[in-house]
Amino acid sequence: MFAAYHNHTTLSEGKTSVSERYDAAFGKGVRDLGISDHFCVFPDGSTRPWSMVSSKVDEYISEIRSYNRGPSAFAKIGLEIEWFTDHHSILPPLIEGLELDFRMGSLHHVGEAFFDDCFSPKRSEEDRLEMWRK
Ligand SMILES: [Zn+2]
Repeated sequence: MFAAYHNHTTLSEGKTSVSERYDAAFGKGVRDLGISDHFCVFPDGSTRPWSMVSSKVDEYISEIRSYNRGPSAFAKIGLEIEWFTDHHSILPPLIEGLELDFRMGSLHHVGEAFFDDCFSPKRSEEDRLEMWRK
């Protein structure tokens, strides 16, 4: 059985809609699908364009549910939730009570710096080493 839980849609940084994600996954033999769009809220409450904003999460959950057609085409609803060290007060109220099937933790930042961007040619060698030291 093929399972895939790390999937993004156009609701965050993905290139396909929820409908297209369903069709592609179930058309390729995935039998256990989870959709986990990015949910990244910085400790100051700001977000990034590649992340879903908290006011859209209920809509996100409803949209995924609307495509669930039974056991052969059923997606679990998740979020890939970014973690920051100073997140203790802001994150729990945003995600508690959401009707999610799973939560996937992620770390893409060192402080405010986007870690995935570490090897960008825009960063100096010294800048890269500083990120790695943190
Ligand atoms: Zn991801």
